[in-house]
This record gives sequence, C-alpha cells and structure tokens, in this order.
Amino acid sequence: MEIKNLKVKDYLEHLARHQIKEIISDECMSALANVKAQYGDTETHCAGLEVRLGDPEPYIDYIMEIDEFNIPGADRLWYELDYEEYAKGGHLEPCLFYTAYLNSATDKDYLKKLLAGFLGEKRARTLYDPLIRIMAVNPKMYVRSIGTMTSRQELDIMRMVLYFPTWDELFQGLSDIGWKGDIEALKTALEPWKEVWSTEVAVDLGPEGVMSEKIGFEIFSPSWKHPVLMSSFIAKLEKAGLCLPSKGDALRRWTNILPDGDPFIHTFVAYFKLNYKDGKITEAKAYLEQSPTPGNYYFAAYEKPVFAEMELKNRSNALDLDTAIHWLKELKANRVRKVKFIGDVLEYQHLGELLKHCKEFGINPQIEINSNVPKEKMATLPALDAPSLIVDFDNLKSLQGTDLAKTSAKWYMDIDNAGTLPQVVSESEKLGVKELIITGMTPQKAAAVYPEKQQLIEAAEFINNYKNTKMTLTVDSCFSPLRAIMGGENTKRNRNRGIERGCSAGRDRFCIHADGRLSPCIFIKEFENSDSLATYWEKSEIVQKLRSIKENTAESCKGCCYRRHCLTCYCKQGKNIV
Ligand code: SF4
Ligand code: SF4
Repeated sequence: MEIKNLKVKDYLEHLARHQIKEIISDECMSALANVKAQYGDTETHCAGLEVRLGDPEPYIDYIMEIDEFNIPGADRLWYELDYEEYAKGGHLEPCLFYTAYLNSATDKDYLKKLLAGFLGEKRARTLYDPLIRIMAVNPKMYVRSIGTMTSRQELDIMRMVLYFPTWDELFQGLSDIGWKGDIEALKTALEPWKEVWSTEVAVDLGPEGVMSEKIGFEIFSPSWKHPVLMSSFIAKLEKAGLCLPSKGDALRRWTNILPDGDPFIHTFVAYFKLNYKDGKITEAKAYLEQSPTPGNYYFAAYEKPVFAEMELKNRSNALDLDTAIHWLKELKANRVRKVKFIGDVLEYQHLGELLKHCKEFGINPQIEINSNVPKEKMATLPALDAPSLIVDFDNLKSLQGTDLAKTSAKWYMDIDNAGTLPQVVSESEKLGVKELIITGMTPQKAAAVYPEKQQLIEAAEFINNYKNTKMTLTVDSCFSPLRAIMGGENTKRNRNRGIERGCSAGRDRFCIHADGRLSPCIFIKEFENSDSLATYWEKSEIVQKLRSIKENTAESCKGCCYRRHCLTCYCKQGKNIV
C-alpha cells in the first residue's frame, strides 16, 4: 500500500465518492466545498467526521490534522469546523485542539509559552494557575488534549481531555479536581460502557477551575478494529436509544468501505463520545476517520486494483493496440495509477506508443524484463527512457555501465541458490540498482525446488539486519513464507498481516493477457472476458474466490505458527511448504 501525506481536497474527493446520505446530505456535501476552498491544498495527516448519532439531520462537523509552525511546542493541531461554520461560507474559523500530554511534571516555561501561543496571552494568564492546580491533584493524570473554541464564541475557557490510568482513578480524580456533578450517579450512568472504557474525559476549564456538570467521555476499544465487533457496539448504542438505526447503518457501511490502495485511504470509526449531564448520558457522537494508514486488516481487497499487469506479447499472441489503449483508459477512469508491462515486452512493436499514452493519462508504467531476453535486445532498453524497470537479476549484467538508479533487480531464490543471497545483494549494490526484489514462489520457475526452512530463516535474518541507504531489499508478496518468517514467531508482533501478507491476485492486481482476456495475475489461467474494469473487479468468479481464501489450508501448514501471516501462491498451493 502506498502511504502518502494527502491534501484536504484528496480526502474530500474520497468522501464525495463514498457519500453516505444518512450522515452527509447533498446540502452538507455542497457546503464542504467551502472547506475545500480554504483548506483544499493544505496537507493533513488524516480527515475526520463528527456524527451526532441521535440527531436525524444528515450533517457532519469536519476535522483535519494540520502541521503547526507558529505555536511554540506544538507540532500539529486538530482543526474542527462546525457544520454551521463551513456552511456559511466566507472565512472559516476552526476550533483548535492540540494533543499535548501535560501533567504535573511538565516544564513550566514550556507550558506558559504553549498556552500563550495556543490561547492568546490574556486567556493563558487567567487559565495557567487553575490548570497547574488541577494537574497537581493526581500526578498520574494527563491533560491529553487542550482545545480552544473561539469560533463558538467561548472566549474565556479551554477544553481539556483528561486521561486517568484506571477506571477507579477517574472518579476519584474528577472529585479531586472539583468536578461539580454527582460521582455516584456518574458511575451508574457509565457502568454499561465500562468494558470499552478508556478513562478519558472532556471537561471545560475556566478561571475558577473545572466548569459545570456537563462532561464528555471518549471511548475507544481495540476490539472495534473488527467490523463485526464494531457493528455489535453500534447495536448496543442503538438499544440504549443513543443511536438512530439510520445512523447506525451508515456507520456500518462506513466501516465496510474497501480502502483505496494508491494512495492508501481507509475508513473506520476512531472513537465515540458519550455526553453526560444530570445523571444520564444525553448524547452519543461518533468520530469517523479517513486515514492514510490501515485502521485494521479485515478487508479482502482494495476498492480498485492498485496496479494492472499487461502482457504485451507471448509465443502465440501480441496484445492488440486498440485493446491496450482501451485498458489504459479504463485504468485512468478507475484511478489505477500503475501498469506493469510484462511478457516479451521488448518484442512488442507498440511499446513506445503505450508509454506515451501512460504519460498522457497520468499512469506510471513499469517494464519487467525476464531472464530470457537476449543481450542485443537488452541494449535497446536505455533508449526507451522508461520511468521504471524491473530486470531479472540473471540479466542485469547486460546493463552494466548504464544508469540503473531507476531499476529494480528481481531474484528468484530456490534450494540451490538460497545461500548466495549475500553475494546477490553485493553484486546488485555494485551495479547500482535502487532495489533488489527477492521472490521465489512464482510458477515462472516451475522446475526450481523451494528453499528449505533453515535457508529461509537465514535469509530472513540477513534481510532483517540489512542496512544500506542506496539500495532497498524487498521481499515480494508472492514469497509469503519468507515474509512471514521475517516477522517472527510471535503472532502479535508479526507485521506480515492483512491484504499484503501473501498472494494478492484479485486483491491488489489483475492481468490483461496478450490475447485480451483477463485473469487475477499473469500465472492464473482462469480467464474471463470483460471490457469493464469495475465489472471484472466486482463480479469475476475467480476474483471473488481468491478473496474468500483466508489462510493456507494445506495439510503441512497445519500447526505452523506463521499460518495467519502467510498466504502462498494460488497456483502452487500445497507445493511450497516450509
Ligand atoms: S508451513 Fe505453510 S503457513 Fe507455514 S510458512 Fe510454510 S507455507 Fe506458510
Ligand atoms: S498467484 Fe499470487 S502468489 Fe502466485 S504469482 Fe500470482 S500473485 Fe503471486
């Protein structure tokens, strides 16, 4: 997955593609154009939507996390724009929040400068002493966030989110800091939500200390990572009368949107907030996130392919030029940003034309050269001026002396050559490639015998310890046992998980074969005909079948500690077991 810092407009465009009308009406969507006008080109670390779950009106408050350069000690701020604010147009004034983690040990000079920059000199002067008093009450308590709601005309106070280490310390702590409500009534109201309690509470600080009985409880749970568990928590809110069924369904749909792969955008619910007043929970809000990093790995595919393989020529066929251009247009229309030209690429007479179309359509072409290409043909490669090349390691020496800074080498590891990995790495470095891709499982080398477990363990150790700023080592997702072993035996720590833990045919890629037919990857010979990428990606039988495979089912994989972190080649199932 391509993780990139995106601009606010990228997230707004993603939101428009996934508008859920129960939470974002057409009117609300149009009003978000005002956010785009003021912040569209600003980079944000993510985007968020605040949804009032008991309110039938379909509108959201909009949240961005933007780098900050003017407030001493604050590196980035959360900007929250109320619907009323961005709907009115003109200059928009956000509420601002900073994730500060302040406590009684925080340096006082730093604190004074931070507050002055964040709240303004005058408000900082009046709120400094009450804040110090509150932090002194419990050294284990943190002021996780501070906020200022100037656009709501709340000019004298500061919002704080307080973090308490335990459930019991929360109630004792609220009492100690002078919260004005009934602690026993609060305990009773919160009891049903204790299982997901994260002990964070939002209160307002004024010159006299903590103000009013009204407070908000921010609740998180790691178990919500799974959409099914999230759905049952939403059902609990619905049952408690805190979430309208229409909004509950909207949240469920939001958590099940397939992510974009390049650049990566994932949608999930980050947390909920329960507002409390007069002895009861009065309102629930959900904070929905559009994130450039995965919130979970429980998705079977990307919304659209991340890249397409296009076989230009093989022994029997050459891809018809019109068909090739049709598919490049389909890629552009579906926001697929990468195409990998494979097969007898240098024998294909229209390659130059396809490269021009890629440029015109904003698609990054990659040319893969296998080991069978003769030396004289290899000599034509530099003239192509291709933006990115993958060259079989065995063929790399033919390019010696040319600039390989945009080239990746690909090396197939088997039982006979596994021990030569350090040598292969050293030669690749000397040739000046930017990357060495290590693979091993693809059916291309059908005769090769798979490396033994001990060989994979040694390779994993070598790769994990490899350091070089000029060349990277990548283990292909088609070589999942090696990736799994690199992650270690502890299943909680092993990061080789989710969609990229192994075979990703039909999950992040598909292939247009030289005869114009489609399959999920060049090696999968279960062909289908289609002119539409969207139809193939959503309806193809083989694509659906591949996405339903959860883990390796081969007899010899039973009991393997890497089973949840390994998904071996579909074409070689049962033949590549360590
Ligand atoms: S035994 Fe099976 S699950 Fe374990 S690493 Fe090998 S292929 Fe993967
Ligand atoms: S079937 Fe999967 S693992 Fe095998 S070559 Fe294709 S993408 Fe790679």
